Amino acid sequence: MTRKIGSGKLVIATHNAGKLKEISALLAPYGMDCISAGALGLPEPPETGTTFVENALIKARAASEASGLPALADDSGLSVAALDGRPGVYTADWAERQHFEGEPGRDWFMAMGKVEGMLQARGPDAPRDAWFSCVLALAWPDGEYAVYEGRVDGTITWPPRGEKGFGYDPVFIPQGGTQTFAEIDPDAKHKISHRADAFDKLVADQFGG
Ligand code: IMP
Repeated sequence: MTRKIGSGKLVIATHNAGKLKEISALLAPYGMDCISAGALGLPEPPETGTTFVENALIKARAASEASGLPALADDSGLSVAALDGRPGVYTADWAERQHFEGEPGRDWFMAMGKVEGMLQARGPDAPRDAWFSCVLALAWPDGEYAVYEGRVDGTITWPPRGEKGFGYDPVFIPQGGTQTFAEIDPDAKHKISHRADAFDKLVADQFGG
C-alpha cells in the first residue's frame, strides 16, 4: 500500500505561481496546506531525467530533502507517436528561443511548427497520433515516494487553432473530438486532461476510500 500524506504541510516543487494556485486548489478539500518551493527559497534542481517520471522524482525529492517535508512535483509534455515520442521531456525546450530580440523566451508557434515539419518529413501518410502526459511524484524526506501517471490521447492538426489554451494546445485534438484544446472551454479541457487524469489517480490513492 502506498504511504499517505494525510493532512498538513506539503511542499509543491514549483516556482510557478500559477501551478501552485492550481494544485493548492485541487488539494485544499483534503486538508493539505500547500507551500511552494519558491516561497521556501529552495533551489530548482536541473531536470536531467530522460522520462517524465525521472524528472518529476528529481524535483519532488530535491524539495523534500531540502525542506524536511513531503513534497509533490509534476512533469508534463507532449509525445508524438511518429516522432518516437518526441518532444517528450524536451517539450518546453523545443520552444526555447535563445536570441529572440536579445531576450531568452519561449516561442510556441515555432515549437508547434517544428513538430509539424518533422511529421511532414515522415510523409503524407505518417500517423498523427499524439498524447499529453502528466506525472505527479510525491516524495518523503526518508526517501519513500509514490508516482501517478496521467495521459490524454489525441491527434496533431495543422495549422494551429484557438486562443484559449497554452503551449501546444492549438495543435492537439483530443480523441473523439473535433476542436483543439485551445478551442474548447478550459473547464471542459480540465475534465479530460492528462493533469486531471494524474490528479484523479493521486486523490483516489491518497484520499480515497
Ligand atoms: P512542465 O510540466 O512545466 O514541465 O511543462 C512542460 C511543457 O509541456 C509545457 O511548457 C507545455 O508546453 C507543455 N504542456 C504541458 N501540459 C500542456 C497542456 O495541457 N497543453 C499544452 N501544452 C502543455
